[in-house]
Amino acid sequence: MNSLLLTGGRVVDPANKFDSSADVLIVDGKISAIGRKLSAQKGIEVFDAIGKIICPGLIDLHVHFREPGQTAKENIASGTAAAARGGFTSIVCMPNTSPTIDNSGTVALIHERAAEEGAVNVFVSGAITKNIAGEELAPIGSLKKAGVVAITDDGHCIQNNELMRRACEYAKMFDLPVFDHCQDYSLVTDGVMHEGYWSTALGLRGWPSAGEEMIVARNILLADLTGAKIHCQHLSAAGSVAQLREAKKRGVPISGEACPHHFVLTDAAVAGSEKFWANDGKILADSQTDGLPSWPAYDTNFKMNPPLRSAKDLEAILEGLADDTIEILCSDHAPHCDYEKEVEFDYAPFGITGLETELSLSLMQLVHTKRISLADMIAKFTLNPARLLNLQKGTLSIGADADVTVFDPDEEWIFRAEDSASKSRNSPFSGWKLKGKAVATIVGGKNVFSEESATTMV
Ligand SMILES: [Zn+2]
Repeated sequence: MNSLLLTGGRVVDPANKFDSSADVLIVDGKISAIGRKLSAQKGIEVFDAIGKIICPGLIDLHVHFREPGQTAKENIASGTAAAARGGFTSIVCMPNTSPTIDNSGTVALIHERAAEEGAVNVFVSGAITKNIAGEELAPIGSLKKAGVVAITDDGHCIQNNELMRRACEYAKMFDLPVFDHCQDYSLVTDGVMHEGYWSTALGLRGWPSAGEEMIVARNILLADLTGAKIHCQHLSAAGSVAQLREAKKRGVPISGEACPHHFVLTDAAVAGSEKFWANDGKILADSQTDGLPSWPAYDTNFKMNPPLRSAKDLEAILEGLADDTIEILCSDHAPHCDYEKEVEFDYAPFGITGLETELSLSLMQLVHTKRISLADMIAKFTLNPARLLNLQKGTLSIGADADVTVFDPDEEWIFRAEDSASKSRNSPFSGWKLKGKAVATIVGGKNVFSEESATTMV
């Protein structure tokens, strides 16, 4: 019998509205019991979780693992290792691989690779359109049959509203959520950073907030029209949050997610660390007690899509997270090789890694600042994504898969991109002092990551 006993932690399971000091017993890959002073039979492995939080395994529904096709950046083995280190037991990988995940064969390939190499559960999203070209629908029914949990053209955005409507109708028929990367191409054109003061000061082409808000509005109209669940990815703009709030009040089946970089950093960071810490980063600077991390202007680790926005937008994202307009937290983990990022800002690819920093940054900006409760933050990483994706995950109910994350909410540590389990180093947070850290990640009862050997046998 394969057993593990986690003792003395604070167990937080939003799905069961449970928040109390307790032990968690795992037997044969399932949650077997939760309670005070559970007795450990002989031969059971015991993990001392005193002072730690024990919660359902975290789910990140937005990651790019680059396999197949671009495995120099990342592959399923390295990507899932980074996920495990960050406290994540399940991820959803995006379909913009090469070839794209727009057919059942490629879905099967990912499942096969994940079964062989994956440290955590890998769920697959399929493309909405063939080759993510935005022209012709992918075979959505056969993708569903192959096991995708959502469809998305992430990285791209379907511009033809009629095509998007048809995609929504199919998705509804197959009970799949439609994830959308909201970007109006005619408004954004070749913008590389948020259109505002700093893009003007730096002489970089702007990516206006309206470019995102326009598609969020389109998605609200189409969700209302078709009844399909549309999920707006990586929201960055204040206007997007306001629209989502209003539409959800009316019962429109629309949802949204936010990534830590959009509620930690602003466009001032593109002007370099001095400008950032002196302006929008003033409050955050207090947490950097070992010295302020520094970076130059035009550092391409601050280039992502959608871009870092203004302080007003950042505040709106935080408010949206606080009042649950934005129900889901995720990373948009987007690894790129050094040589690709080490070019002029205009030419660098969009995107940063995030799996190993998102829990800490969320704790710092949401929980330690008392903007939301610990249970609410955990729900945004567990219950809420599981519900959107119809996954039997995100809870510590008796009999559930023993996917469990143990983290220390107060541990201070310095993130160093060079020590990451990811193959890539493109993080803007390298050298930052972070507060809160995963100490153990358990997938199906198996410990796939632990910070130190805290386990003992009895
Ligand atoms: Zn995207």
